[in-house]
Amino acid sequence: MAGTNDALFSLRGKRLILIAEDEEINRALLENILEPEYETIAAENGQQAMEKLIANPGLVSLVLLDLNMPGMGGLEVLRRMREDPDLSQVPVIVLTAESDSEVQSLNLGAVDFIPKPYPQPDVILARVRRTIELSESRKIISFTERDPLTGLLNPDYFYRYAERYDQLHPDEEMDAIVLDIYHFHLLNERFGRARGDEILQRTADSILSAVRPLGGFAARRGGDTFLIYCPGGTDYGKLLQSICRHSEQDAGERLRMRMGVFQRADKSVEMAHRFDRAKMAADTVRGQVTNNIAMYDDRMRERELYAERLIDDFPRAIAENQFRVFYQPKYDIRPDQPKLSSAEALVRWNHPELGMVRPDQFIPLFEENGLVEELDRYVWRTAARQIRSWREKFGRTLPVSVNVSRIDLYDPKLTDRLNALREENGLGPDDLLLEITESAYTGDSDHALAVIHELREMGFRIEVDDFGSGYSSLNMISTLPIDVLKLDMAFIRSAFREGGDTRMLEIMIDIARALNVPVIAEGVETEEQMKALRAIGCDIVQGYYFSRPVPPEEFEAFIVQGERGDESEC
Ligand code: C2E
Ligand code: MG
Ligand code: MG
Repeated sequence: MAGTNDALFSLRGKRLILIAEDEEINRALLENILEPEYETIAAENGQQAMEKLIANPGLVSLVLLDLNMPGMGGLEVLRRMREDPDLSQVPVIVLTAESDSEVQSLNLGAVDFIPKPYPQPDVILARVRRTIELSESRKIISFTERDPLTGLLNPDYFYRYAERYDQLHPDEEMDAIVLDIYHFHLLNERFGRARGDEILQRTADSILSAVRPLGGFAARRGGDTFLIYCPGGTDYGKLLQSICRHSEQDAGERLRMRMGVFQRADKSVEMAHRFDRAKMAADTVRGQVTNNIAMYDDRMRERELYAERLIDDFPRAIAENQFRVFYQPKYDIRPDQPKLSSAEALVRWNHPELGMVRPDQFIPLFEENGLVEELDRYVWRTAARQIRSWREKFGRTLPVSVNVSRIDLYDPKLTDRLNALREENGLGPDDLLLEITESAYTGDSDHALAVIHELREMGFRIEVDDFGSGYSSLNMISTLPIDVLKLDMAFIRSAFREGGDTRMLEIMIDIARALNVPVIAEGVETEEQMKALRAIGCDIVQGYYFSRPVPPEEFEAFIVQGERGDESEC
């Protein structure tokens, strides 16, 4: 495992020392001794020393302070530093010819002194080194800056450290790099947590040994995400390869990693955000086998700006009812004449400047920052009222399913809210249905499963959305609390494309049979598809063949019609 101080001292930047001394010759002497190892700045009196300290916040590793200077003297500087919370941690070595001032300056917080005339250079260097080391180790302890599992820096400390590095090297181009392990959660599930931890430790070690010679340093953020701050000009392919090779050898199994780089990071961008950008790039690698390195680029920048805009516009959109709920019919295809069985509520954003924005552009975004909860509450409320209003108008209840995001499952009031909606609108268990995507069952599955069980106990029917796209094992499926399986559209796509075959679809339908639940196919666009699905035992169909999602006024025609012939007008 990485040693405690490795990353800290792998920082290529030199530490900065302030020399406050009025005699020019003495300053030059000290600079000469220190300069190969440290950077120095100089002050000729106490006033200047204070100004320079304040102008370099958090950057000065040590002050060498002459006590006798014209104007403000060293003792006064010590006094002022002690009173300033930002400066009181900066170690001070006092330079003095008078031995009686030593005690006084030690009492005022100086950590050591160097007598005048100056001793041998190596004595001075030894004192300087020791003082800086002691002070940094004290800081290390007080900031708990290490990730206990891997020994790498933790992100907060890493960001501060990187900022400091930038201040010391304003002209150096730096890359923000994010690295993560493909499907780490699967490795964890397959080999167990302890083995997963070991893989993370080995990866951390291999990252350190790869970036240290480049003058970079590293941190771990969250489960399997690693951050690297590194001088520009690195050969990323080689870096990734050497990390992978090293980790694999040790881990004993094949690891796939991907890397995102914010190259020559724009230093006006906040440090943490530079790594968000690198992560954004890394996320675009998803699924690609050959090229697993991606650079942050202008396209991503545009997407990022678009996303920021959508987030900024959200409160106004809610307040001004810009969100609209559309409905897409689901038809029972078992009878010869398909019969309208229910509808799915799908949100649309009628943005005043951007036009109709589709949910796949904002739902994932709002899932990331939690806004989806507020949006979904609005959609559920609208859908529940719609069910009631159609019942009043047409004398029959058309069940409507709403999408419940995995984020909603963390709302402690979820069950109360849904119950209240049912009560307010006089709805029964078969009227308001819940679609929960399969991937919600996989992440932190214990929690999700508990909430879903609770919802079912309260009488809600659960439709597993996008089934087959997640990673639930067959073993897990048999114990899932579900009422309906909605097949992921990808199965329909691959079954019906040229040369495709329906075997996978048949297997999925067999699974539904074994679980004794009806199966819905979505994304059905043609009559041929509908008939083929009917022939292999699919119960319900949703898709453009019957209708796109439409506004409620338009949807009413389907309720009036109730039943539709195969020769649909789509
Ligand atoms: P989903 O829940 O799986 O919804 C089905 C998506 O497939 C809808 O996309 C629908 O318009 C589209 N679709 C239906 N039939 C066809 C077809 O024949 N061909 C094709 N190509 N597409 C078809 P939409 O409305 O863009 O929604 C995308 C996803 O956004 C939804 O996938 C759902 O995960 C999410 N979403 C939509 N509305 C909400 C909402 O109110 N709350 C939450 N949490 N998520 C929502
Ligand atoms: Mg859905
Ligand atoms: Mg779906």
